[in-house]
Amino acid sequence: MSTVFKGSFTQQEPIPEAGIEAALRVLRGGRLHRYNVVDGEVAEAALLEEDFAAYTGAKYALAVASGGYAIGCALRALGVQPGDKVLTNGFTLAPVPGAIAAVNAEPVFVEVTEDLTIDLDHLARLVAETDAKVLLLSHMRGHICDMELLMQICDGAGVQVVEDCAHTMGGAWKGVPSGRHGAMAAYSTQTYKHMNSGEGGILTSDNPDLMARAIMLSGSYMLYARHRAAPPPEAFEQVKWVTPNVSGRMDNLRAAILRPQLADLPRQVERWNALYRVVEEGLRNTPGLKVIDRPEEESIVGSSIQFLLPGFAADQIGDVLKRCAARGVDLKWFGGAEPVAFTSRYDSWRYASPQSLPNTDRILSGLMDMRLPLTFSLEDAQLIAGIIAEEVRSTALST
Ligand SMILES: *Cc1c(COP(=O)(O)O)cnc(C)c1O
Repeated sequence: MSTVFKGSFTQQEPIPEAGIEAALRVLRGGRLHRYNVVDGEVAEAALLEEDFAAYTGAKYALAVASGGYAIGCALRALGVQPGDKVLTNGFTLAPVPGAIAAVNAEPVFVEVTEDLTIDLDHLARLVAETDAKVLLLSHMRGHICDMELLMQICDGAGVQVVEDCAHTMGGAWKGVPSGRHGAMAAYSTQTYKHMNSGEGGILTSDNPDLMARAIMLSGSYMLYARHRAAPPPEAFEQVKWVTPNVSGRMDNLRAAILRPQLADLPRQVERWNALYRVVEEGLRNTPGLKVIDRPEEESIVGSSIQFLLPGFAADQIGDVLKRCAARGVDLKWFGGAEPVAFTSRYDSWRYASPQSLPNTDRILSGLMDMRLPLTFSLEDAQLIAGIIAEEVRSTALST
């Protein structure tokens, strides 16, 4: 009998004890709403914003209800109007084009490269050919493109960048934390991301006007002075009259759970990367399998790993998936005819106008994706990589 992996690809670690204790304090106090504070008290939500701004180096941070909300809030703060074109990745997850559709704007999809980053040549072409004034950049699966080049392209054409850092919280490009290049950056604290509050998101920016708008949008009423990582009251003077309330605040319970996790994040990133490097080494030199080499400039967070099976036909990939699943290894494929679980792609989002991305089609047809939760040990990582390498080999030999 061949070895089988028994762990769960969706099992995250428990919330740290300090988070559980902080949550109990909030529950016992009964003041879960972020603006429900007694004299001299600072809400957990406001403290989380302060911590997160310090962690990323952003001037301002806003805790909100979800990562998707943070993205939508950024698009609204930037003044994206119905019918506006918004550039975004052809390879990303559904909340990204969804946030564009939610403000009745039109996603324009950019090709992906074999490094799984946004194709900067195609981006430059679309910037020149369309009148899009915003790029919603998804650092999909943590792969960061050449951010200096990207900013050059966008700054040169007056295109504002919103960074979707759902997969790069804790990552960096040339030492600059992910999210620090664009006008605004959105992070998610949903269970499967790098901090876990069930649902949640954080938006950052250095721009006082954009952040004042975002805070009003999130549902601050006229209580914005209770924020700490926020622009001064003057920034709200005009904004408060013209910005609608689109409620999406974070509550103190989630913020309390998150603060100890943020303090632990650097250590967790190291643990993810240790798992990642073991799987990567175990997959390297497998005939027919292409590992995605990570550039030196990128500080990764290896919470998931991707690889390509470029020469494999669809039925062979189906075989690899089945054989691996039979041995307990849960691979996802972005090239299937029908989206499964989270594997939808640009041509699945039929509310957007039909677009043709031949390179993305080719690359996604061989793209495999796997989560690496921190409940896995290094031995688990080795076992999983061994199973994948064996099954890719035997599928190649049997057909
Ligand atoms: C999870 C995710 C989001 C949205 O986060 P939610 O908190 O689930 O709304 C956005 N972009 C990407 C790439 C994601 O994976």
